[in-house]
Amino acid sequence: MGKPTGFLEFTRELPTSTGAKTRIGDFNEFHEHMPEEKLQEQGSRCMDCGVPFCHTGQLMAGMAAGCPINNLIPEWNDLVYHGRWREALDRLHKTNNFPEFTGRVCPAPCEGSCVLGIIDPPVTIKNIEVAIIDKGFEEGWVVPNPPPVRTGKKVAVVGSGPSGLACAAQLNSAGHLVTVFERADRIGGLVMYGIPNMKLDKQKVVERRLKLMREEGITFVTNTEIGKDYPAEKLLAEFDAVVLCTGATKGRDLPIPGRQLKGIHMAMEFLRANTKSLLDSGHKDGKYIPAKGKNVIVIGGGDTGTDCVGTSMRHGCKSLVQFELLPKPPDARAKDNPWPQWPKVYKLDYGQEEAAAVFGSDPRTYCILTKEFVGDADGNVKELKTVQVEWGKDANGKFGMKEVPGSEKIYPAELVLLAMGFLGPEDTLVKALGVATDERSNYKAEYGRFKTSIDKVFAAGDCRRGQSLVVWAINEGRAAARECDRFLMGTTVLP
Ligand SMILES: Cc1cc2nc3c(=O)[nH]c(=O)nc-3n(C[C@H](O)[C@H](O)[C@H](O)COP(=O)(O)OP(=O)(O)OC[C@H]3O[C@@H](n4cnc5c(N)ncnc54)[C@H](O)[C@@H]3O)c2cc1C
Ligand code: SF4
Repeated sequence: MGKPTGFLEFTRELPTSTGAKTRIGDFNEFHEHMPEEKLQEQGSRCMDCGVPFCHTGQLMAGMAAGCPINNLIPEWNDLVYHGRWREALDRLHKTNNFPEFTGRVCPAPCEGSCVLGIIDPPVTIKNIEVAIIDKGFEEGWVVPNPPPVRTGKKVAVVGSGPSGLACAAQLNSAGHLVTVFERADRIGGLVMYGIPNMKLDKQKVVERRLKLMREEGITFVTNTEIGKDYPAEKLLAEFDAVVLCTGATKGRDLPIPGRQLKGIHMAMEFLRANTKSLLDSGHKDGKYIPAKGKNVIVIGGGDTGTDCVGTSMRHGCKSLVQFELLPKPPDARAKDNPWPQWPKVYKLDYGQEEAAAVFGSDPRTYCILTKEFVGDADGNVKELKTVQVEWGKDANGKFGMKEVPGSEKIYPAELVLLAMGFLGPEDTLVKALGVATDERSNYKAEYGRFKTSIDKVFAAGDCRRGQSLVVWAINEGRAAARECDRFLMGTTVLP
């Protein structure tokens, strides 16, 4: 522990970000970097606890408490405090293939279980993580590191999201020849086409890492959907092992009256088209769903909903409301949500902050259920009929909702975005490979083994655990690579 009194001397500080009204003028990242001395002060707040929880990554009450990839947080906090950045970077890369992704987009369960967080605001772990890796790139310390020897074994990774990329990086480092197949025209999965550019820059950050991976010897094949453009049997015949990392991309729909009207879209249609058009032409090709001048309603209060809010704000929407079916979370931890569990508390994310800056208040409205979409004479959506709901336990103690009589309301909307979560992987490979699924329609493969019902086929990431987080995708990609290496070699060299 570098500075025993760091947590007493310094308060939690994060870098400033561009003001909400300014940053909605473009799709650029908006968090600034802190000066090095400030970062060292923040690192010194880490108490290097006897029993740290920040790096445990245990599931508690169904949520991660601590870092799911077991980042060696107290170690790199201390190294940063001492200005030993290069060693901090080496420590960070031991557990995390892509700290520049997690340092930007992770919700930081590590901070929710930081021991300092019991009495004071937690250490700024996520910001220190991104500062270490960004400095590493600036200094030229992050260079391709191809394996010294090749095993001659060939592995196909299907899907290029963070689980596929982490899996490919690990298998390649063990000397296997890895080919990543991706059906989209760009590599990256939801890191490329889900999470918007202002949260994670595609050219400067994602492509920079992909270039390194290519230089390390990984082959990427785009525009190729396994099971459609490339037969699954051919894949099995040509490769010694296959790892499925196809994500949980089947969005939850809202089949209520009026769903067929024009102007109602799944969130991912909106987000994908927006990023593709931005990257292809700076939006000049017009191949995106515009929110400009429209009353927008986002149905769903999670990360995807927030990204729809942030994107609509950048398009210049006329008004914005975000519906959430559940009640508003409390401002502080509830009694049944103690430390070190993930804190289920109210927070204003970037998109809501932007909507509040322009329209005067947080755009979220809680306990609201959409009953019907109403259209105009041309078949375009023009309004939504809603009702308020109340949550509580029924006579059998089961938690549920009931509609509040007389609370019906009408909202105008020319654009509705459905962001209500995801239902598991699409069924292309279930049909093409015959891979077994579990009761939630994810590929069936036990965590820790990652083996599917098909010989030499493994599964990792959202397609196995359901829609989750980038950090869990990295966890699963790394761990599945280890099991795949063990299968190929009889033993494994991977961590
Ligand atoms: C809008 C949005 C915002 C999010 N924001 C955050 C956030 O801020 N922080 C966070 O931690 N997490 C966030 N997430 C969740 C996170 O992005 C995912 O958990 C993570 O990307 C899952 O990684 P994955 O590799 O398992 O799958 P994915 O990233 O979904 O990648 C799967 C890839 O497989 C490809 N594929 C599918 N089938 C085939 C096939 N048959 N052949 C070839 N390729 C195929 C798909 O095209 C896709 O590119 C967000 C998710 C969404 C939708
Ligand atoms: S990956 Fe996420 S949980 Fe792990 S240290 Fe980084 S911000 Fe924290």
